[in-house]
Amino acid sequence: DIITGIGSGVLISIFVGFFLAGRAWVPIRNAWDKQQRFVADASHELRTPVSVIRAQTELLLRYPSHSIERESDNIAVILKESTRMSKLLEDLLTLARSDSNQLELECSVFSLDRVLLDLTKQFKLLAVTKEIDIDLSLQEPLPFWGDESRIRQLLVILLDNALKYTPSNGRIEVSGKSSAHHVTVIVSDSGRGIPKEELPYLFERFYRGDKSRSRKEGGTGLGLSIAKWIVDAHGGTIRAESQTGAGSRFELRFPRKNKAAL
Ligand code: ADP
Repeated sequence: DIITGIGSGVLISIFVGFFLAGRAWVPIRNAWDKQQRFVADASHELRTPVSVIRAQTELLLRYPSHSIERESDNIAVILKESTRMSKLLEDLLTLARSDSNQLELECSVFSLDRVLLDLTKQFKLLAVTKEIDIDLSLQEPLPFWGDESRIRQLLVILLDNALKYTPSNGRIEVSGKSSAHHVTVIVSDSGRGIPKEELPYLFERFYRGDKSRSRKEGGTGLGLSIAKWIVDAHGGTIRAESQTGAGSRFELRFPRKNKAAL
């Protein structure tokens, strides 16, 4: 009975997974399409974790005498899927608020060099297990006018992707510098790269390259669209350069605002 239960849970997850993985990416034509697609994609993305959580919970309820130890794998699945769902909901909320202009930046002057140093330190700890080197090249000081927590969020998205899509023993390089008119941050990696034909869709909501693989790596396909919103809100640009198998390079460029304060 328990085998049938586990089997049906796994089957539901596989079915929903394949359903999502198999959907072809169609370019968006207009604002109405965009809105409809956002709602449809959000529902599909939420359906997977909800189905898995329901199936696993039904399974647990079927065997009330089983110990937590015995069911720990099933409980771990519930935890993993609910964590994924919270992240998805948080990202959806950010995008919905940004659409309705409810998100305001809280700008101040802060040290971008300190933020880059902090984040690379944190990511170095995460990169140890994959034996990935993270190299930081920094111009100091690097004062910046903007919303520090949003800029951190943006850099976390880029570093997180670099780490996710770079296999073991790879390399991530981060640099930050300023010129007379711009502040430039580059995050590049020696990872799997992005096929040229995918580059135009990269910043679209829910776009995931290799869908089944990205989902396995915890991706929701919302990271880069949030990154783009943060960059736009700061009056900057984000550019991706990549080739399959040749790593990726993301360049952020911001105007140097409020020069008196910098
Ligand atoms: P996800 O949550 O899937 O990572 P993102 O919006 O952050 O969503 O990225 C969209 C897609 O862009 C990813 O699914 C992946 O295919 C591709 N991508 C982003 N960053 C990188 C990178 N550094 N190397 C390779 N592919 C990347």
